[in-house]
Amino acid sequence: MYDIGIIGGGTAGLTAAIYGQRAGKRTLIIEGLNFGGQIVNSPKVENYPGIESISGSQYSMNLLNQALKLGSETASEKVKGIREEDGIKIIVTEEKEYPCKTIIIATGVSHRHLGIEKEEKLAGSGVSYCATCDGAFFKGRDVAVIGGGNTALQDAEFLSNYCNKVYVVHRRDEFRGESSLVDVLKEKENVEFVLSATVKDIVGEFMVEGLVLNNKKTGEDFQIPVSGVFVAIGQIPQNEIFDDVVRLDESGFILASEDCMTSRPGIFAAGDCRTKEVRQLTTAAADGAVAALAACKYLAAR
Ligand code: NAP
Repeated sequence: MYDIGIIGGGTAGLTAAIYGQRAGKRTLIIEGLNFGGQIVNSPKVENYPGIESISGSQYSMNLLNQALKLGSETASEKVKGIREEDGIKIIVTEEKEYPCKTIIIATGVSHRHLGIEKEEKLAGSGVSYCATCDGAFFKGRDVAVIGGGNTALQDAEFLSNYCNKVYVVHRRDEFRGESSLVDVLKEKENVEFVLSATVKDIVGEFMVEGLVLNNKKTGEDFQIPVSGVFVAIGQIPQNEIFDDVVRLDESGFILASEDCMTSRPGIFAAGDCRTKEVRQLTTAAADGAVAALAACKYLAAR
């Protein structure tokens, strides 16, 4: 029986394990893919307080080692769901069942992909899903942001401070994001809107060299030369397997506020998988700490 069962081995989950172990609890982290989460793919992390520069993979490795050294246990298994039996919470994986006194769900989100050829191949070689993480590496270059929501608009503004030129490529004429953000971009000399356009292909074999776009109104294809493509077309939580135990919002995020409490006592949600405004490494780490301490408090009250 684990005191705290943690689902997801990204920054939130690993931080929860560190805090749980340091509070003397027996913790288990279950991860279905790679320990470290989304940040593993970032070439450099330069926005984590106290760490000037580190690769995403090194950062993740350090975090995992820290949790392991403190005695946290791990399992590399795909979680199928959670059930409760006689007051015990049970994490059900494809292989086993893990009884736990409390559970922290820290499953993160996946960036929605364009689904075009070369996107996966050039990820990290010009294709990025995080302007905040990777924008500084495109200083003085021409880049494109794909999407018309608040993330794309904010990314474009952020990138306009580093890049020579920023194209905002959106599939419609109207933006989904806030008009005030659009107005800010309109004032920027180095930002150009490319509207009613979809991405058809990425030019470049080993690095991004440009984009082939399709004008949806005329049906014509045209190219823009860019060395970076920031895909900001929404994020997809993967919480469906938990919707019978905790409440989700209409987009599938677990309803929980800054205290990381879900609708189910003893089950907490930490990091990007929960409803929140800012999804960053620092906020995921903060959530991991908050959720673990909340779990400890729940255990003490039993
Ligand atoms: P979003 O609001 O869902 O916007 C996604 C954008 O990508 C939409 O413009 C959509 O086009 C486009 N898109 C979706 N699938 C596409 C595809 N396959 N190909 C091309 N374009 C595609 O996502 P988000 O911008 O990541 O924002 C997520 C949530 O966080 C939103 O509620 C947003 O308001 C919030 N947020 C808030 C702030 C803030 O400052 N308050 C900052 C960032 C995000 P269509 O418009 O045509 O559907």
